[in-house]
Amino acid sequence: MISFPDIQSEVQFLFELTEIKVSVLREDLIHPLISGNKFRKLKYNLKAFEEGNFDALLTFGGAYSNHIFATAAAGKEFGFKTIGVIRGEEIQYKIDENPTLKFAKECGMAFKFVSRENYRQKTNPEFLEELKKEFGQIYILQEGGTNSLAIKGCEEILGNHTKEFDCICCAVGTGGTISGIINSSEDHQKVLGFPALKDSEFLKDEIKKYSRRSNFELIDEFHFGGFAKTNDELIDFINSFKRNFGLTLDPIYTAKMMYGIIELIKRGNFENESSILVIHTGGLQGIDAMNQRLKRKNKTEIE
Ligand SMILES: *Cc1c(COP(=O)(O)O)cnc(C)c1O
Repeated sequence: MISFPDIQSEVQFLFELTEIKVSVLREDLIHPLISGNKFRKLKYNLKAFEEGNFDALLTFGGAYSNHIFATAAAGKEFGFKTIGVIRGEEIQYKIDENPTLKFAKECGMAFKFVSRENYRQKTNPEFLEELKKEFGQIYILQEGGTNSLAIKGCEEILGNHTKEFDCICCAVGTGGTISGIINSSEDHQKVLGFPALKDSEFLKDEIKKYSRRSNFELIDEFHFGGFAKTNDELIDFINSFKRNFGLTLDPIYTAKMMYGIIELIKRGNFENESSILVIHTGGLQGIDAMNQRLKRKNKTEIE
């Protein structure tokens, strides 16, 4: 029986800067392995998976994907079969060097490695039919786990304990998590999304698919060059943030968001005496892989 408990994450005060109060919602602590927003996104999908007559759950992701990691962990915990369609054929020879895939493999996830070109077919019905022929009765969950059931789960991130805040901030990848947050936000609240990728124009339309509200804005200047790109400044920021506040940020999503929030506060973009709630969506499993890459380049690593 797959069951995810109803959880309200803890709100923690972090700091005050120019009379703006910043707190964090600790979604990163929701589960030791199925962390943050991936727990929320899987919750109702796994219910649907269990209610259907499926042999396995198949999903898509890059080699360091938090979603692949979380899905594999859920498969192990609840005893169902998982298949990961992974971007990049060359990765198949490097599974044991890759902390994310090594973990997923140990959880029992089976992989299908596809070229970048084929990976782009991931929503193409013919490609999905071929996958069904290959793997049988599969529940297909798209990249990042985003669909309407995922949004339903993400609507449970906010609750009675978060109604007082003026502004809610969230890192954005596919736009699923922020859509759920927008749906359950209060009318007086503004939701700010920080895309972790370049060329994030498509996100507005993605969010419109799942939400009719318009109390949100996307801040697209803090992607640090693109998805999973970092620089010394960002890594230094992560390390000093941890020293100052005891909170670890992940380099792909939450660090870029937090950097952006502090920058906007310094610029005076928030109303005087307003309160901000930052969603810590997790993603800390990605730090080992990032440190491997930083080490290879002789750069400072994340502490
Ligand atoms: C996947 C992920 C996101 C992005 O979520 P989307 O629903 O794809 O927008 C944000 N933060 C972390 C830590 C993630 O792992």
